[in-house]
Amino acid sequence: MREFEYFAPKTVKEALSLLSQYEEEAEIIAGGQSLLVIMRQGLFTPKYLIDVKGISALDYINRDEGKGLRIGALTIHRAIEKSPIIQRHFKVLSEMEGNLATIQTRNWGTIGGNLCHGDPAGDPAPVFIALMAKLKLASLGQERIMEVEEFSKDYLEVALEPNEMLVEIQVPTPPPNTGTAYEKLTVMKGDMGIVGAAVSITLSSEDGVCKDARIALSNASSIPLRVREAERQLIGKVLNDDLLAEAGQVASEEAETTSDVHGSAEYRREMVKVFVRRAARKALERARAG
Ligand SMILES: Cc1cc2nc3c(=O)[nH]c(=O)nc-3n(C[C@H](O)[C@H](O)[C@H](O)COP(=O)(O)OP(=O)(O)OC[C@H]3O[C@@H](n4cnc5c(N)ncnc54)[C@H](O)[C@@H]3O)c2cc1C
Repeated sequence: MREFEYFAPKTVKEALSLLSQYEEEAEIIAGGQSLLVIMRQGLFTPKYLIDVKGISALDYINRDEGKGLRIGALTIHRAIEKSPIIQRHFKVLSEMEGNLATIQTRNWGTIGGNLCHGDPAGDPAPVFIALMAKLKLASLGQERIMEVEEFSKDYLEVALEPNEMLVEIQVPTPPPNTGTAYEKLTVMKGDMGIVGAAVSITLSSEDGVCKDARIALSNASSIPLRVREAERQLIGKVLNDDLLAEAGQVASEEAETTSDVHGSAEYRREMVKVFVRRAARKALERARAG
């Protein structure tokens, strides 16, 4: 590994000052679980490493009915999985975290690091897209809000400026009669998904018609992919299993799968059908339960 200068700021302002000073030559490190792998491989050689793990002000989970859920970027996966607030109001997030890697990894890796790494196989991004979540990005003296859906640009590439860091994830309170579910295909529990699907369905309380649907895939493109045509198969209809299967079919046509050692592009496409339908069934059950 190439030598680098190391900083361990204790406040967001300190971290942002360092970022604005060194910009492209600097890289943030949180848990280091993804960053250190590519640094050890020599694929990435920052001159300055800004270790933000000690910024306790970015480690929080808050919720109120109006604003929704707020998660600090340095919150570890395990805290999200175990949070009583999240288990009660955003069960899908707790379930997704419970199947992300091992307890050891969840105890150190941060939600912000996961999103900023930009791995299309990551589990949190599609779930946040289904939940209509936004990100708060900060640079010295400035903040901007971006939809999670807009954040990934390409494989391991996200829409952060060199002087910016992610500080918060914001999840709105879902409308009444909404159900959300995430299902991923793995060989063993806790593996990265071969593919995954997050589905959110909102039903009309009057006639049970699907008012809104959001579907996002993991590991089916170079980015976490929202599949809007598949969503359109559901919106405005009284849902049944055939329609959920149809949404899976359309999602598999929208997917941009590639082949690797874990599965061929064709196999992934087939599995998108299955996992979209499976997640949609669960989301629908939850929406009907209110
Ligand atoms: C064995 C193993 C198994 C895993 N399995 C899964 C899995 O099944 N599903 C899954 O989704 N993930 C999985 N992961 C990834 C894991 O979830 C971590 O979230 C992820 O490694 C990144 O978190 P980190 O805090 O370690 O980030 P780091 O490695 O420190 O950072 C990753 C990238 O994000 C940037 N960054 C970090 N924080 C910020 C911030 N606040 N603002 C701006 N940029 C930032 C860094 O500069 C770096 O480019 C696995 C990881 C390991 C090691």
